[in-house]
Amino acid sequence: MNINNFLHSGFKFTDDENLLQFKFKMLNSIFIIVAFFSALFGLLSDLSINDIGPIHSKVNYVYSFLTIMLIFFLRSSKTNYNLTAYALLIISLITFTSSLIFVPQDEFRMIWFYLLVFVAYMISGKMSGLFFTLASIVVILTVNFFVDMQLSQVAINSGILGLIIGSFLSSIYTNKITDYENSLKQQNSSLSLLASTDYLTGIMNRRMFNEISERYFQTAQKNEFCLTLLLLDLDHFKKVNDTYGHQAGDQLLKRFVETLERILNKSDIFARIGGEEFGILLSQVSSADAYILAEQIRKEIENDFMTYEGQDIRVTISIGISENRKTDTAFENIFSRADMALYKAKEEGRNKTCYVGSSNDDLHCPNSIIDNNVPNYSI
Ligand code: GH3
Ligand code: MG
Ligand code: MG
Repeated sequence: MNINNFLHSGFKFTDDENLLQFKFKMLNSIFIIVAFFSALFGLLSDLSINDIGPIHSKVNYVYSFLTIMLIFFLRSSKTNYNLTAYALLIISLITFTSSLIFVPQDEFRMIWFYLLVFVAYMISGKMSGLFFTLASIVVILTVNFFVDMQLSQVAINSGILGLIIGSFLSSIYTNKITDYENSLKQQNSSLSLLASTDYLTGIMNRRMFNEISERYFQTAQKNEFCLTLLLLDLDHFKKVNDTYGHQAGDQLLKRFVETLERILNKSDIFARIGGEEFGILLSQVSSADAYILAEQIRKEIENDFMTYEGQDIRVTISIGISENRKTDTAFENIFSRADMALYKAKEEGRNKTCYVGSSNDDLHCPNSIIDNNVPNYSI
């Protein structure tokens, strides 16, 4: 078996689960170490090489066995991490308590509680670290009250003080790591937002649009859903820039997006895929049905105008539509047909919608069916 696969409990982790992946590795490594050394301690004692007494030697075997069980439990579900980590900490606390009671010949046995607190911070976080610090102190004081641990009061006091200091330092360190992890997550999410958003209009950019479209395409092909793409291109936009300036062009692009956001449903995928070119992806809508929506958009833009420095600026758009076909192997196939339809719309004189249907040579550029009576669009 691949060692990495074993340490990950056989699970796959996404980029976002980097820390969780590390924690799985850590916890499984701790399991191996604990299972091996506790069994070894038991065995060495039974062989009279390192006497920890008959009771604590058995406790060590049980400890080893339970730890091996936890390896299997952690493999059964990714969500078992916290429960498994807590289970390990609790059985460790019990085992170390047993050493306090049953191995009086070991003057250094309080050292195991240091390890417990440190591991609690590492695998379960700050609250768990604090809890096991408190639990360790309570256990040491309680055992000391009922049993003669054969340790001086000074040794016990030093032991507890050391635990508190160790816990305090681990807590500061855990806090720092948590802060660091949170700020990294925040940076990552704002970076990925930045990488997927168009800077001018605030809508999705081409990179994100392609990614989502490819995913929609795979689902649509698998389930035989209709998936339709609308490509929208502003007509003679260069002229707008040349006549009114680039700033006016920018304002017009923003206004265009606002108008579309009013018409479209929130769930529609709408993106700026080029300078003055936009894409809309509609799931479970045929290209013929999408034509109604496209015409509504086209009319709305045709009738709209923007006042810029005292001048009314108008713009029209051309739209190309295409839907998926059974023979398509990538979203790119739909895209290139929609592009072909858009090209045709431009050729037909612009301010026009053309669509490609589901069969070959199926390119339509109907005369507008919508003038004043625009049907409501909703899917
Ligand atoms: P057509 O009807 O054939 O589409 O003509 P067009 O002028 O719209 O097309 P063309 O591709 O020749 O020009 C597109 C123009 O869009 C050129 C470019 O300056 C402008 N443009 C692209 N991105 C932006 C932008 O972010 N802001 C502004 N103001 N203009 C942009
Ligand atoms: Mg254009
Ligand atoms: Mg263009």
